[in-house]
Amino acid sequence: METRRIIIAIDGFSSTGKSTMAKTLARRIGYAYIDTGAMYRAVALFCIENGLIGADGTVDEAGLESRLGDIAITFGVNAATGQSETFLNGRCVEREIRDMRVSGVVSNVAKIAFVRHALVSQQQAMGRGKGIVMDGRDIGTVVFPDAEMKVFVTASAETRARRRYDELVAKGDTGVTYDQVLRNVEERDRIDTTRAESPLRKADDAYVLDNSNMTIDEQNRWLLDLYDKIAGNDR
Ligand code: C5P
Repeated sequence: METRRIIIAIDGFSSTGKSTMAKTLARRIGYAYIDTGAMYRAVALFCIENGLIGADGTVDEAGLESRLGDIAITFGVNAATGQSETFLNGRCVEREIRDMRVSGVVSNVAKIAFVRHALVSQQQAMGRGKGIVMDGRDIGTVVFPDAEMKVFVTASAETRARRRYDELVAKGDTGVTYDQVLRNVEERDRIDTTRAESPLRKADDAYVLDNSNMTIDEQNRWLLDLYDKIAGNDR
């Protein structure tokens, strides 16, 4: 059987480990990997650094709209680690965009329609040549509704908060408690699923992966098997 180049859309709740799975799959099949959450996080970081976030976490939308042209988000590969990194106006922000300061405001930034329109058209341009794995919230529903392979990843909020907390602690971020992380996960779920503009929902033709009780190896195998089936690869 011939393998065809396809678009792989991986959506789901925050901290389900979708990025790790998506990255591993992309590496194994030689596809490009695009982390769309990183793009929303980079815009959120821009807002924080430019005084566009009020004390209550609301975004100065008019201010942001007038500065949208000043935001360039690009990806590069770190030569030492081989990992993809996010750049905001030429500066590597991979680490900063993962901290709680950004996690606390990113969903408020991501619910703004003009932000979504700008990022979605960049994402669509990146997928023009196919051969990509893209992860996010609206990839299978809005960005690539015709993607050949769609996966919706989910797990309980507690499982996801535990994973995220362990990750932050492993990185040395000890200023945060498990309860704070759990509240952030639940709050982002709420904003992501209830926003008016392309809310997080499973595409009708997406395969569901609940990974609450799966090891990383099991998830990787599940994803690769699905890819082989869809792309017609006799591995
Ligand atoms: O995937 P990650 O958790 O890094 O995404 C951060 C936030 O960006 C999400 O909580 C969501 O609000 C937003 N997002 C989005 N649409 C995407 C990717 C991320 O709204 N395609």
